[in-house]
Amino acid sequence: MTDLADALAEAVGPLHVRTDDLSGYGTDWTGRWVGHARLAVAPGTAEEIGKILRICVDAHIGIVPQGGNTGLVGGAVPDGDVVLDLRRLDTVEVDPVAGQVRAGAGATVAAVQAAARAAGLRYGVDLASRDSATIGGTVATNAAGLRALRLGDTRAQMIDVEAVLSTGAVISRRTGLTRDNSGYDLPRWVCGSEGTLAVVTAARLRLLPEPADRATALLAFPDLPAAVAAAASLRREPAIEVLELMLAAGIALVCEQQALPAPFPVDHPVLLLVEATAPADAAGILGALVEALPGVADAAVGVDAADSRRLWAYRELHTESVSRVGVPHKLDVALPLPAFASFVTEVQPAVAQGWPEAAVWMWGHVGEGNLHLNVTGVDPDDEDLDDVVLRMVAEAGGSISAEHGIGRAKQRWLPLVRSAEEIAVWRAVKAAFDPTGTLNPGVLLPK
Ligand SMILES: Cc1cc2nc3c(=O)[nH]c(=O)nc-3n(C[C@H](O)[C@H](O)[C@H](O)COP(=O)(O)OP(=O)(O)OC[C@H]3O[C@@H](n4cnc5c(N)ncnc54)[C@H](O)[C@@H]3O)c2cc1C
Repeated sequence: MTDLADALAEAVGPLHVRTDDLSGYGTDWTGRWVGHARLAVAPGTAEEIGKILRICVDAHIGIVPQGGNTGLVGGAVPDGDVVLDLRRLDTVEVDPVAGQVRAGAGATVAAVQAAARAAGLRYGVDLASRDSATIGGTVATNAAGLRALRLGDTRAQMIDVEAVLSTGAVISRRTGLTRDNSGYDLPRWVCGSEGTLAVVTAARLRLLPEPADRATALLAFPDLPAAVAAAASLRREPAIEVLELMLAAGIALVCEQQALPAPFPVDHPVLLLVEATAPADAAGILGALVEALPGVADAAVGVDAADSRRLWAYRELHTESVSRVGVPHKLDVALPLPAFASFVTEVQPAVAQGWPEAAVWMWGHVGEGNLHLNVTGVDPDDEDLDDVVLRMVAEAGGSISAEHGIGRAKQRWLPLVRSAEEIAVWRAVKAAFDPTGTLNPGVLLPK
């Protein structure tokens, strides 16, 4: 063992310091980002995290916080740094009276959802990576997911975050108060900071009442403008909680990769997965809304939970199916809804012109203008492709990251959507939280 490993072993116990077989820590979920971990250390308490930070600051070594390693922008991939594996901090305590949960950074989203359900409540953030993605990771990336249209992103669920700075200081509002307007809200700044400002050790999150009834439907449309117009109309309906868009190519890929039957007897160019929740008769409410929608070519309704899961699978298996056919360029973007259909139509030929071998896969949380644009068949390191797409996004008034963050993947294009003055303020904030630049060097802000 090296001096560093010995010092860390003293802080957390030798069982929790790993110096061999580190490849799982050094590669991201997509296989696009491959780095090198100097070693990995798995603390069991916030106090141990403070000790680890002091050791690394003194040794001038970077620390990369890692939860489930499901991030899609290379933000948890080390570059010769120490990986801080937070999965041992996995406590989940529900406070049913306050309607809140206090979860350790390493608790998975699925564990928090299950604990909430057991108390007759629910957690508002849901995403296909729920079984591995952690509360710390979702806070650090401000993950949004499948129900953000109505329930909001992770930031909207946050009551408080406990986090340790590289200086050893602990930030937290220390109460479960939902009204606390006493000045700068530092814990909230940590949300979306991608591990660059502080290490999240726990979060206190709001829980919501579980709706008594829900209904799911898969709607088919003859073209994109009809589907986007339907989404724009449905998102004004309070009962609608989910609005997910898929295209024929993606559906065919999911069916092929996952051995699923086609959802309809004939193929349709665009599908919307829609879910309604209500105190009663969600199916009736959804049925009436669908009937009033122009342009619906066919509809499949989930009549029970198993049937709904069957419809959900077409959407949830997109990310995994694309990764099975190659290492994708993952371009998670957002567009103003009026520009959505024309962007999707124009981006295909723009990619084909430069990269005729490319396969473009698109789907997304269309209710919020999100488009997950994935490209396979092109060298993952060919940034010219990302450049073409992200410039088109910015010209259309969109964002280069709808929900996955910036990580190592998108720093180069930050000036398309953030001014030099804003980035200068970010650097000052980073210096105030992490004066030694120990936390996640090279992520979000260029080194
Ligand atoms: C199949 C699939 C579906 C997905 N769907 C969605 C989706 O719908 N919406 C969405 O937003 N994302 C989605 N993602 C992306 C991913 O799941 C989220 O970004 C998630 O928040 C990452 O959590 P994690 O625990 O895996 O974090 P990691 O991947 O381990 O880390 C992500 C970032 O957070 C930092 N970090 C992790 N833990 C901490 C901590 N305790 N303190 C400080 N920083 C920390 C890391 O340094 C890194 O920068 C999906 C991913 C997959 C594979």
